[in-house]
Amino acid sequence: MKKRIIILTGAGISAESGLNTFRDADGLWEGYNIEDVATPEAWKRNPELVQDFYNERRKSVMAAKPNLAHLALAKLDEKFETLIITQNIDDLHERAGSKAIIHLHGEIIYSRSSKNSALLYKMKNHEIKMGEFCELGSQLRPHVVWFGEDVPLITKAMHEMPKADMVILVGSSLAVYPAAGLLEYVRPEVPIYVVDPKIPNVNLPNKIIKIQEKASKAVPILVDKLLKDA
Ligand code: NAD
Repeated sequence: MKKRIIILTGAGISAESGLNTFRDADGLWEGYNIEDVATPEAWKRNPELVQDFYNERRKSVMAAKPNLAHLALAKLDEKFETLIITQNIDDLHERAGSKAIIHLHGEIIYSRSSKNSALLYKMKNHEIKMGEFCELGSQLRPHVVWFGEDVPLITKAMHEMPKADMVILVGSSLAVYPAAGLLEYVRPEVPIYVVDPKIPNVNLPNKIIKIQEKASKAVPILVDKLLKDA
């Protein structure tokens, strides 16, 4: 039976595709305070600003390409059963060829109804306009989870974690909950590889293998080793 690898990814894996993280630079995201652009309160206060912010993020995502780290992770499917649980709202894992992906914080390439969160629309261009409505007549918003909103897929992710035989964490500061708490559901005998130029604090009884390096350099090497040893 194939071993099961769960890969947790954060903004750092997409940094070398040109998509900025936010915790590296003074807690701002592309120069904005999170409270001004990524909360339900911001959407109530100034929907135009929030919409513009995500339109710009979407434009960057659509122009970006998967990097060597995304591409290498997709190769793991050759010998392992893999599941990617990502905090990222970009679609670079999909475009790299990975199949099983849980997007905890949504997917920016979809717009969604602000009345019924199940109504999603795949976007053809980068812009959601104010005055653009869903079929129920409510304003379309980005399909992302804002700070302070529920994370509907966290329960599914929590149930997956204990099934892992190996875990790889790439490019997350582990500062955003509930995603950061997922590692606590890993069985204690399961090794956890951590790839990040700035290794986050992982306080668990597991064997933690720290690879203090950028994702595009370290992940292909790690993947080759895992495929060879499998
Ligand atoms: P974070 O910004 O809090 O932390 C980024 C981490 O990546 C840091 O630990 C940093 O050291 C590391 N890093 C930077 N460059 C790296 C590289 N080249 N290789 C490997 N690691 C690198 O990110 P987070 O923990 O994912 O939390 C950010 C939140 O913001 C998430 O909720 C996410 O939804 C959102 N976000 C998403 C994107 C995206 O979709 N690409 C981009 C920015 C923010």
